[in-house]
Amino acid sequence: MSNLVLYRKYRPLNFAQVVNQEHIKTTLANAVANNRVGHAYLFTGPRGVGKTTLARIFARAINCTNRKGSEPCNECEVCKSFFEATSLDLLEIDAASHTGVDNIRELIEHLQFAPTKATYKVIIVDEVHMLSKGAFNALLKTLEEPPKHAVFILATTEINKVPATIISRTQKFDFKKVNMLDLIKLLKFVAGDNQVKINDNALMEIAAAADGSFRDGLSLLDQVINYADGEVTEELVEQVLGLTGIKTTAKFLDLIIDGKTQQAVNFISDLMSAGRDLYQFQKDFLEYLRKILLVKVGGTTDFGFSQEIQANLNAQANRVSLDRIMKVIQIFQKIESEIKWATIQSLPLELAAVEATEEENKEIASSVRSDDQSSVLPSTSRKDNGDKLNQIISYWPQILEKLKDYNHSLISSLKLAVPIAIVGKELILLFPYKFHKDAIEARKNRVVVDQVIEEVTGIKLMVKPELQKDWQGEEKEEKNETVQSALKIMGGEVSE
Ligand SMILES: [Zn+2]
Repeated sequence: MSNLVLYRKYRPLNFAQVVNQEHIKTTLANAVANNRVGHAYLFTGPRGVGKTTLARIFARAINCTNRKGSEPCNECEVCKSFFEATSLDLLEIDAASHTGVDNIRELIEHLQFAPTKATYKVIIVDEVHMLSKGAFNALLKTLEEPPKHAVFILATTEINKVPATIISRTQKFDFKKVNMLDLIKLLKFVAGDNQVKINDNALMEIAAAADGSFRDGLSLLDQVINYADGEVTEELVEQVLGLTGIKTTAKFLDLIIDGKTQQAVNFISDLMSAGRDLYQFQKDFLEYLRKILLVKVGGTTDFGFSQEIQANLNAQANRVSLDRIMKVIQIFQKIESEIKWATIQSLPLELAAVEATEEENKEIASSVRSDDQSSVLPSTSRKDNGDKLNQIISYWPQILEKLKDYNHSLISSLKLAVPIAIVGKELILLFPYKFHKDAIEARKNRVVVDQVIEEVTGIKLMVKPELQKDWQGEEKEEKNETVQSALKIMGGEVSE
């Protein structure tokens, strides 16, 4: 990604303009305001989330001769010379291209002299994990006994490659990926500021593709704007960036869930003829599946999606069992390296689509075969129950609202409940905590909830509260383990 015009233009110039990494910027700003400047800082986190930007703001702030509170003025002689990189008191090196011990020795020699105009000599070392062993040793010696006027800011995307001895000499700050909402807000502002018309879905597509990086987000926006003639739409974004778009990705999952083998395979060949990046599609699809998984296990649901897309995602999560989504994830995860090296790039995806849809067909077949067993519902009534469940979910806010007329104290408990399934005449509600589950379980309360649900939706059911962790029944332990390992593989978390 080379298009960095917008990224440079909209780089924050002071702490207040930084819209993410809230706790880091507050800690740094306080250090400036209280004149408690440390000798070594370590900024770790993914690329493009503001590590260098905050390092530079901090460097100016501690040296500015006309500081306002904790903010650099950006106009005094020192600030200007830092901006223009003409100051001898600010040294920025990229460890990726200066890995050797001599580079660090040079730095250290330079540090022996007092600052010329500034109060501190600031050394920013980007990608510090790239330093050689010798260079790290030389750096460590200086960090053990730093000159009084020296401030090191080390930045890295790979903290696991930085020696523990270095880490322990620094104040460490963990930068997080930028959340979707902050990214969308920034992209919207930048687009508006440049008189670019762009719709919300297009903004969301760019933000999703940027994957938590400001730099990538603005660089992608740059690329899209260059192609735009009039309003930027999601179709244009998908075309320019070779993306497959969240709606399209969601459609593919529908085909998989419904066991539509032929359409799913056609879907992949259509993507290929449309020139979409299939490797990227596989990654996007996995990311989408991960979100479904998170929703299913009661984890985070704040993905920054538009209401329409989030509602569709929730409905899909309800339509598919945990077991099945885990199987689909495994099927599509194992083809990752195959896609990269396949002679026919679409083939691994097509095979995965067949495998994943056949899985569903097997399930349907077996449930039809065992129609006579009362434990397995015939497929027609499975579908009816699915419709009812979706209806109840979509009316959930109204149900909570209505409940106020009857029993105000139940709402706080019921708010945490997730309607997860209908089994026979019972509506299963999952609760994260026993306390809330017990509150609803009391018979008199259950009856009230049943009544309200019927009043709002016209559907007559009996609620059955269950604890989230017990919901898997006897196979609970085994499944929880699988859920945990699946989440671990996909880098997700289950919030408590
Ligand atoms: Zn200044």
